[in-house]
Amino acid sequence: MRASWRIARIMGIDINIDPSWLIIFALVSWTLAGYYFPRQFPDWSASLNWLLGVVTALLFFASVLAHELAHSIVAKWQGEEVRSITLFLLGGVAQITEEPDKPSKEFFMAVVGPLSSIAIGIVFFIIWLLVRDVSQPLGALTQYLAIINVVLAVFNLIPGFPMDGGRVLRALLWKTTGNLQKATRIASTTGQVIAFLFIIGGIVQIFSGLIFSGIWIIFIGWFLHNAATVGYRQVVMKEMLREVRAKDLMSTDFETIPSNLSIQQLIDEYILKRRDRAFLVADRGKLKGIICLENVKAVPPEKRSTTLVGEMMTPKEKLEVVSPEDDGQKVLTRLTVKNVGQLPVMENDKVKGILCRSDVLHHLQVRQELGV
Ligand SMILES: [Zn+2]
Repeated sequence: MRASWRIARIMGIDINIDPSWLIIFALVSWTLAGYYFPRQFPDWSASLNWLLGVVTALLFFASVLAHELAHSIVAKWQGEEVRSITLFLLGGVAQITEEPDKPSKEFFMAVVGPLSSIAIGIVFFIIWLLVRDVSQPLGALTQYLAIINVVLAVFNLIPGFPMDGGRVLRALLWKTTGNLQKATRIASTTGQVIAFLFIIGGIVQIFSGLIFSGIWIIFIGWFLHNAATVGYRQVVMKEMLREVRAKDLMSTDFETIPSNLSIQQLIDEYILKRRDRAFLVADRGKLKGIICLENVKAVPPEKRSTTLVGEMMTPKEKLEVVSPEDDGQKVLTRLTVKNVGQLPVMENDKVKGILCRSDVLHHLQVRQELGV
């Protein structure tokens, strides 16, 4: 993933900001300060408009964050791992490592987002009732936030996967049909249809002279269309992976090297002679760690003959491992989430095989080509 800035950590979840968020933040502030407030209150000064615009935009994105936090907290309660929440150009996204394994889980995880937005909207509405006669700027700010949060909830409830409404739809279809793949197919198709409607709507707007908002709506439509397509493919792939075991995917043709080998010997005798990018380090049959090309590159050439493999390897304690009976989905999650190149397959402290990303992808490709 691209570099994003971590701004906070809430309940063990990293809160990140993607550089693209700055664009939307500037755009929202500018729309508020340049158009929304001046149109309602022509006698306000420019500095008041801008101050209020920036503060309102910040509170709006705090609301988006709260919406994503709601998804994440429910996901955590259900035992899912949530890595981070990132604010980006099109709002917020929570990175939940695995797709829910039950319709009820998915339903609650999805529905809680729009519900929290409605709740936030109601809170701002109540504050608006209290402050509107006291302060005009505070009234305008709370009114806007009350409206925008309800709009956010309604928008997210559009029943096209992967939006929240589409996930709710998928959960209901999944519950009634018992078939996740079929449910995803229907919800994704709805998502694609809605995405097309967005694009058509955007084109109509452009022809009516609203060029900027037209382009924006087309962009959102395009994004939704992509997400719906990718979402479906991922589910099909995961279903396939659920049926295979690590022992069927792993290669058993691996060589182990002793930890007292020097880096120079490793290069001369193994790396240059074999295709492997990583080697298991084991002393008398016991796994000690893994050493890969990246570790080797970190050693300057003049120190290669005096540095030992044992000093440079990733030690066993820090390794991600799987067992032979783990399914393909777990394997792929381990490989991608921790971004490791190789994964030892272990049984009772013994290495049975080694797995890398290409093994998994190769397997999927073969299955797809054979149509199984
Ligand atoms: Zn949501």
